[in-house]
Amino acid sequence: MLIDGCGRGVDYLRVSVTERCNFRCLYCMPDKPFSWTPREDLLSFEELFLFIKASIDEGITKIRITGGEPLLRSDLDSFIKMISDYKSDIDLALTTNGYLLPVTAKKLKDAGLKRLNISVDSLKRPVAQKIAQKDILDDVLLGIDKALEVGLKVKINMVALKGINDNEIIDILDFCKDKNIEVRFIEYMKNTLAKDKLEGLLGKEILDIIKEKYTIKKLGRVGASPSFSYLLEDGYKFGLIDPHKHDFCETCNRIRLTAEGHLIPCLYFDEAMSIKDAIKKKDVKKAVEILKTVLRDKPKENRWGHEGSEISTRAFYETGG
Ligand code: SAM
Ligand code: SF4
Repeated sequence: MLIDGCGRGVDYLRVSVTERCNFRCLYCMPDKPFSWTPREDLLSFEELFLFIKASIDEGITKIRITGGEPLLRSDLDSFIKMISDYKSDIDLALTTNGYLLPVTAKKLKDAGLKRLNISVDSLKRPVAQKIAQKDILDDVLLGIDKALEVGLKVKINMVALKGINDNEIIDILDFCKDKNIEVRFIEYMKNTLAKDKLEGLLGKEILDIIKEKYTIKKLGRVGASPSFSYLLEDGYKFGLIDPHKHDFCETCNRIRLTAEGHLIPCLYFDEAMSIKDAIKKKDVKKAVEILKTVLRDKPKENRWGHEGSEISTRAFYETGG
């Protein structure tokens, strides 16, 4: 088992396979022009897998593939298969904007993927288009249905933004309830690349809106999940991710690897170390040493909402949100 410098067990690796994206979500992407890391600077799937194998051997039991938009990286299903063939009982999940799921869901399932988180910020076509800066809704909804049809377990993520989609919190909750899939409302986390005037709803504000229609009961966090669970009277469960409270940092069990080979100990912090040279030389022992150094220095808690703290200079598409 991997243990960090604060004594927390770390068994969860999030792997960003690309920073590229086919959406330009207001809360995530900078305005153009901006440049992507050249493809030749990214680790290949074989190289990423070398590190993943070693980290599974060190005690990682849960892997989430993310980005950018992970489905943009071709042959993602073969990467998923490499991981699932190495350890079939690994908890293997993917976070996606859902746009390419109508054509990829079956391949992903066949390759061994178990779970999907799909981002849905609006069920109104113009609002979804305003947030993603592209007409996306029909494909995303089709993607959700396709994922369910092939037997993938689905959760929905919604980032609640004041004056943009905060009037859809109940609609999205009801949409997910009807499909019997869990929704997780996420507090908007400021970063220097997101649009200036965006303002997110705090967890309490999200709950107050839901309470206008439903009676809710607090359940708690499941394990080390950043999501706090709530129950409606009819038994439907939903989640709230509220990093401004910091209380999930105490049990944080995760480490992040980017497509460029940066190991990032916390979503907020700019600090990172690279395993790229070690992995390019196939020096897995060295890469594991770097992993242990990063874990030794993993921060005690994130800085979102801290009095006087600067906002993060790294957007989620770069880190792998
Ligand atoms: N492209 C995929 C997607 O959108 O699901 C995966 C990567 S995206 C960076 C992962 C998650 O981060 C999404 O659910 C997205 O809504 C969330 N996210 C991105 N920027 C955020 C921000 N500034 N605050 C809160 N959540 C954010
Ligand atoms: Fe792309 Fe996901 Fe960021 Fe939206 S949140 S721009 S879909 S990476």
